[in-house]
Amino acid sequence: MIKELFSENKQLLSFEVFPPKKEEEFANAFLVLDSLAGLQPDFISVTYGAGGSTSKRTQEIAVRLQDTYHVPALAHLTCVSSTREEISSMVAALRAAGIENILALRGDIPRDADFPSPEHYHYASELIGHIRSLEGGKELCIGAACYPEGHVECPHREDDIDFLKRKVDMGVDFLTTQMFFDNDVLYRFLYRVLAKGITVPVIAGIMPVMSVKQIRRSCELSGTVMPPRLQGIADRFGDDPAAMRQAGIAYATEQIVDLVAHGVEHIHIYTMNKPDVAARIMANLSDIIRPRG
Ligand code: FAD
Repeated sequence: MIKELFSENKQLLSFEVFPPKKEEEFANAFLVLDSLAGLQPDFISVTYGAGGSTSKRTQEIAVRLQDTYHVPALAHLTCVSSTREEISSMVAALRAAGIENILALRGDIPRDADFPSPEHYHYASELIGHIRSLEGGKELCIGAACYPEGHVECPHREDDIDFLKRKVDMGVDFLTTQMFFDNDVLYRFLYRVLAKGITVPVIAGIMPVMSVKQIRRSCELSGTVMPPRLQGIADRFGDDPAAMRQAGIAYATEQIVDLVAHGVEHIHIYTMNKPDVAARIMANLSDIIRPRG
């Protein structure tokens, strides 16, 4: 279980994959898992498509990770488009398949949908409470999301931290952060979190920037700030994919070196199904982050 790794390992490294959108893409997805598992992360998280479209696929990839590669899997689960009954059966299916680590999320509210209705969840904290109340729910390892720059929907950062505290109190074992590109933002957030009495481990989420267009869009949607140094890199190399890739890998590497130097030992890399990028970052960090034994 992932929660046990925090006490066993001083350092912890995880990757993230998303499941294939189509059945015929599974063969390629398995190749991605093969390469990522070879880098010996402590666990790999598997995202969940908005609207529940990939819940079965999330499970299938998670099971493959555990059964074939013996890498603990963290299955993401969003609740905003599901009823409590649907969530109960999805959690039961995950447990039956041997998945005991869940990242419990609200998900983005679909633009065109009339959500949330009384049948549906409003916040991840309700999902966490619900999972904990299910048969076997207390034994599961539950992670949740946190936002060093505040969640984009929440106008006041202090309220966001208050809501985070409520969420953790519902039974969260660890938190993973949204991407951030300025480590000082994370350090200030960690102080605020501690001051609020949130003591569960926080995993720092690092996004290697590969495409300027895509990252600008993600930053716009999530409210993540691109610091001037990264803006400069994007302006200079944005039109040259190979150079941007190299600069993105270097930037992510430097972020991680600085985090580890400041005592942040739990790192999650948003690998986005790009094992070659993960491999380059890991090679850069070979004496700083050691693979699990
Ligand atoms: P919540 O914790 O419920 O927070 C949502 C908003 O509600 C925040 O603004 C919060 O301040 C506010 N809030 C919370 N409680 C209250 C309250 N009681 N009263 C008033 N306001 C409240 N999305 C996917 O679709 N699939 C994924 O696989 C996925 N993986 C992710 C992994 C990570 C590490 C992160 C950081 C995000 C991920 N997301 C994913 C995106 C996530 O679903 C969105 O950011 C979503 O908008 C918020 O989800 P949450 O679980 O953080 O929500």
